[in-house]
Amino acid sequence: MKTQQLNTSDTDLQAAACILKNGGLVAFPTETVYGLGANALDPEAVAKVYEAKGRPSDNPMIVHISRASDIGQLTPALSQRIIKLIENFWPGPLTLVVPKKAEVPDITTGGLDTVAVRMPDDKVALKIITLAGCPIAAPSANLSGKPSPTKASHVIDDLDGKIDAIVCGADCRVGIESTVLDVSSEVATILRPGIITAENIEAAIGETVEFDPTLFADGQGTLGLNGQGGLGLNGQGEMNSPAPKSPGMKYKHYAPNAQMTIIEGQRDRVKSEIERLKVLNERIGLKVGVILFEEQAFIEAAHDFFSNLRELDEQNVDLILAGALSDKDGVGFAVMNRMLKSSGYNIAKV
Ligand code: AMP
Ligand code: MG
Repeated sequence: MKTQQLNTSDTDLQAAACILKNGGLVAFPTETVYGLGANALDPEAVAKVYEAKGRPSDNPMIVHISRASDIGQLTPALSQRIIKLIENFWPGPLTLVVPKKAEVPDITTGGLDTVAVRMPDDKVALKIITLAGCPIAAPSANLSGKPSPTKASHVIDDLDGKIDAIVCGADCRVGIESTVLDVSSEVATILRPGIITAENIEAAIGETVEFDPTLFADGQGTLGLNGQGGLGLNGQGEMNSPAPKSPGMKYKHYAPNAQMTIIEGQRDRVKSEIERLKVLNERIGLKVGVILFEEQAFIEAAHDFFSNLRELDEQNVDLILAGALSDKDGVGFAVMNRMLKSSGYNIAKV
């Protein structure tokens, strides 16, 4: 298939919307990462998204809307809590998992009786959705398992020839995917961390927010005992991990081609360990890439992380050495969630 490359002019956005209306696939920018859009209410269109991405069919999609009130097309009733969340965070990088209406096809929600909904904070995304006139299912526009795309060029690298069109807009402002918050049951639970943190949400709704316990797992299905925001990687006091509530969280994710090791510890030690490992590995002929963010620069880390992974892959490095971020900060925790998955939970403490 020939993939059209569109720009963000009115004519091209109209063309993008037309493709979506007719059941086609269009990738477009949002403030988080680029999304691969399809009409969320058209099961055949949604099936093509799974196919183009190579995404497992039990991994549900986030449905994007351009007016907050359109959530009424997808869910039967709004609680006070949901209304407060919408008022505080939409448009923005917060996805709400709510009970689904029968009109939402099972394929869109991976067979679940809930649907994940978000109103993005990006002019181009909002315009495309408005012009298409239907809710748009849009998972990240990458091949399943690869780092999420934060630039149009990343989408072209992964999906050229597999989808109808790519709207080539600006680089994504946030750089990691939205916070996914389950509000379909009594306790609001973060299923995927993002730049909207538990603290932000608690301040808005005046309720305690929990984390899905699998966020503290070590990739082997075991949890540490420090499920307080610690990463549970110390392997002590292991217990069996429950099944993740967010099906997508169980799959291999964000993996660069290179092998990757995270170095965690006191800052100076991390720096010297990275230097030591770099020299050692270069001595045996390996090409080594380093990802080391400024200590408190969590927002910058979120913005750059996926794009750094892709750059290092382009440079054909064999090994990536990455400095751990503090998980005491909510945004740091969100970036560490991606970093751990990228490395296959390969972490060395110094
Ligand atoms: P992506 O579209 O790549 O940003 O991934 C969407 C994430 O939202 C995945 O981790 C999904 O498992 C999660 N998700 C989507 N719908 C639901 C739902 N109804 N319940 C729980 N998690 C969901
Ligand atoms: Mg994704």
